[in-house]
Amino acid sequence: MKRAGGSPTVALNAKGIRMREEGIDILSFAAGEPDYDTPEPVKAAAIEAIRQNDTHYTSAAGTTALRRRIVRKLREENGIDVSEDGIIVTPGAKPALFAAMMCFLEPGDECLVLTPAYPSYRSGILMAGAGYVPVPLRFEDGFRVTRKMLEAKVTARSKMLIVCNPCNPTGHVLSAEEVRDIADFVLAHDLLLIADEIYEKLIYDGREHLSLGALPEISDRVITLNGLSKSAAMTGWRIGYSASSPSLARVMLKFQQNSLNCTAAFTQTASVAAFDCAAETEAMRLGYLRRRDLICDGLNAIPGITCPRAEGAFYAFFRVDHRGMSAGELAEYILEKERILLVPGTAFGEGGEGCLRMSFAADEASLHEALRRLGRLFG
Ligand code: PMP
Ligand code: GLU
Repeated sequence: MKRAGGSPTVALNAKGIRMREEGIDILSFAAGEPDYDTPEPVKAAAIEAIRQNDTHYTSAAGTTALRRRIVRKLREENGIDVSEDGIIVTPGAKPALFAAMMCFLEPGDECLVLTPAYPSYRSGILMAGAGYVPVPLRFEDGFRVTRKMLEAKVTARSKMLIVCNPCNPTGHVLSAEEVRDIADFVLAHDLLLIADEIYEKLIYDGREHLSLGALPEISDRVITLNGLSKSAAMTGWRIGYSASSPSLARVMLKFQQNSLNCTAAFTQTASVAAFDCAAETEAMRLGYLRRRDLICDGLNAIPGITCPRAEGAFYAFFRVDHRGMSAGELAEYILEKERILLVPGTAFGEGGEGCLRMSFAADEASLHEALRRLGRLFG
């Protein structure tokens, strides 16, 4: 735990909440969570489930109804050929991530991570006692990954690679070529691959989401992570899942049985309805797209700021060139001077220096106000 540290994204979110509670008027874009509300059919289903006393333990892997619905979703939408015994429903995607790392990493192993990356990857690897090996991607290259970059970091101890697609924090969406390179690499070095696809529904400009678990030659070594936090605006419900071969799922099930036991019963029942909320998800995606353009255009108009258009997810990951300040200094300066809470790029590891992450899952009035304040500060 000493090596791992806390989660900077979670801690900064808490800081924003605390400052607001103390009456400090801040604009917080630190948290990566939808500002939309959960679709009505899901809420209605949860209320009904509680009325029906759907409030007991479920089987550790999750209810049959929900696992079957997830299997159908993965087959129809992602081309992932998984069976019901390859699905484990977890309280949020994060526990599925940790289950995978605890189950398949041990001291002496190394896990490669494309960075900048979601901070909990690093923490989880270190908590499992394994070695964290960043594969730094470059802002200038649009955070694209190549086989060469991966080969430069692989060793005889490499056991696993974690890929987030679309990526939090960079917004990068993997191209067909990158997917091919990753698959070939994983196969060549006999690695396990964690494919975190929690932002799969939030992709812009006609790009296509490609699931690594859909490639037959590597499907037995891929653990796909997903959940409803982003696609159905259900962060607080805590619903996620892993999809893998039954043999990998059997190991992860032991972890679940001994740690979390199961995911809350009525939220599982209600979640079945969330998979039929495509129209609501699409409306949210269009809202994020509008805000992405608003924030990117606005930031790029400010001297010293370079903001690439996120291809997916709901974060602007932009570079600020101001008096040689580091990412940490910039975040503090902006908070102190203009009361705006952003996450320094370095919280996401190697490749994040000089950058800031701003969630655009926020109301447009706040985004306009943030642009006004940042323009005043740097203009
Ligand atoms: N992976 C990534 C990349 C995320 O951004 C998040 C969001 N918090 C998670 C996993 C965890 O999702 P959940 O809230 O469902 O645990
Ligand atoms: N996905 C969010 C983020 O990146 C939530 C915080 C977390 O899970 O770490 O900010």
